[in-house]
Amino acid sequence: MGFNDEFGQKILDNLKSQVEPKQYETWIAGLNFIEVPPDIITISLPNTFYIEWYKKNYLSLMETSIAETTGKKYAVQFVALPEQSRLFTDDLFPAPASSLKGRREAKQSVRADTSPGGKGAVIKDARERTNSSNKYDFALNPNYVFDRFVVGMCNRLAHAAAMAVAENPGKAYNPLFIHGGVGLGKTHLLQAACHQIITKHPHLSIYYRSGEGFVNDYIAAVKNNAFESFRQQCRSKDILIIDDIHFLGSGGKTASQEEFFHTFNALHNVNKQIVLSSDSPPKEIPTLHERLVSRFNWGMVARFEPPDYETRMAILRKKIDAYKINIEDDIIKVIAESVSTNIRDLEGTLIRLIGLARSSNQNPSLALAHEALKDIIGSVSPNINIITIIDMVANYFNFSSTELQSKSRSKSVSLARQIGCYLARQLKPDLSLEEIGSALGGREHSTVLHSIEKIRKRSQKDAQFKETLKMLTADIKKKSG
Ligand code: ADP
Ligand code: MG
Repeated sequence: MGFNDEFGQKILDNLKSQVEPKQYETWIAGLNFIEVPPDIITISLPNTFYIEWYKKNYLSLMETSIAETTGKKYAVQFVALPEQSRLFTDDLFPAPASSLKGRREAKQSVRADTSPGGKGAVIKDARERTNSSNKYDFALNPNYVFDRFVVGMCNRLAHAAAMAVAENPGKAYNPLFIHGGVGLGKTHLLQAACHQIITKHPHLSIYYRSGEGFVNDYIAAVKNNAFESFRQQCRSKDILIIDDIHFLGSGGKTASQEEFFHTFNALHNVNKQIVLSSDSPPKEIPTLHERLVSRFNWGMVARFEPPDYETRMAILRKKIDAYKINIEDDIIKVIAESVSTNIRDLEGTLIRLIGLARSSNQNPSLALAHEALKDIIGSVSPNINIITIIDMVANYFNFSSTELQSKSRSKSVSLARQIGCYLARQLKPDLSLEEIGSALGGREHSTVLHSIEKIRKRSQKDAQFKETLKMLTADIKKKSG
């Protein structure tokens, strides 16, 4: 896959520089990294015995190495794939990995995977895992569990509600609707609920998708004339969990909304649990039909606030523990103070810091922390204010600031306004979406969010556009001193 070609070799090279040559040849050289979007990388191994060994010895090394190489935090998931065993010949499997008993079991379970008559504890375990993974047609990030979710003032209600729902599906709040800005933990919490339901209620079936995933399933069903089986697939489940349901609200998805409406009703009528997340409260989702808005408000609506300082510190400490490294409190404080609006960026800064320290063979220091911050949130001049940003953007497009703040919907004014939103977000990360919206003439926060996304996407595709944004950014910084 694309990911493999682009990054696979780089990850291998990075790992090679970090372990002994013999270790590299034995354990790492033959591995394949498969990306499961958005943020999981799977590595296939012959059986569960290998999986335990890699988890113990290589998991954290691989996670940091992949983060360093790709610049993105992936969860590493090992999966048992019997064909993979030809990559590993027996004499490459060193004895210290385990007792001889473990070694024997490893062999047996490879055989058991191909000959269904086998016996033994490990064999059974391997088969159970395969079965249980077949039961669910979605992948979960193994790190997104309740144990790794830090609870603070900002997310207490949503967390408690998600726990209650996972304990007693269909009996606590129905639906549970969680909303909040980008990178605040919605996906983590929804998947934690999934993990918990799978563990505590293994007999219950789950339909878990993103809003986009639901729409894609729906479109595929229409195309392939497989509508009945799609309906069956959604409506026969015990639990329905949809992440980023606001996707249904943007632009011309009337048919998908209609289908979702009927799915919702079918399940809700028979007390099946429904959990939804969104970037804004139900009534602020653009073009969402009123009857869905009202249904989303039937149960519990819980909002994620941006993380307060204590929660940010607690999250950093927890992640540092997981990486088993030592970082002084002073350094953690600088990060917690600088990244206030987004937990993903908070985590990104920490990973970047660890990467920088590793690649330069130093201990994490304040200087490196500043460098990491620059990489993640850009160098932010404290003097920049939103008025300057609006002025400069208006000026660049030959409008006045007042025009940018007006109700005008002309294409070019709208584009300039969207760029204003985007740059304000980049250059003033401490401002909330509401504050940006009000500086731009009283725009709804969902409109601001939509603008930012739109510009971000375009800048990824259009190099010239990206260059324009860069120039504007530089100008604004220069002007602000
Ligand atoms: P969202 O879906 O709201 O955009 P995510 O769930 O993807 O956000 O979270 C972004 C990152 O921040 C993830 O890596 C997640 O594990 C981490 N994160 C978010 N909230 C918490 C929390 N309360 N405790 C620990 N990690 C968190
Ligand atoms: Mg998400």
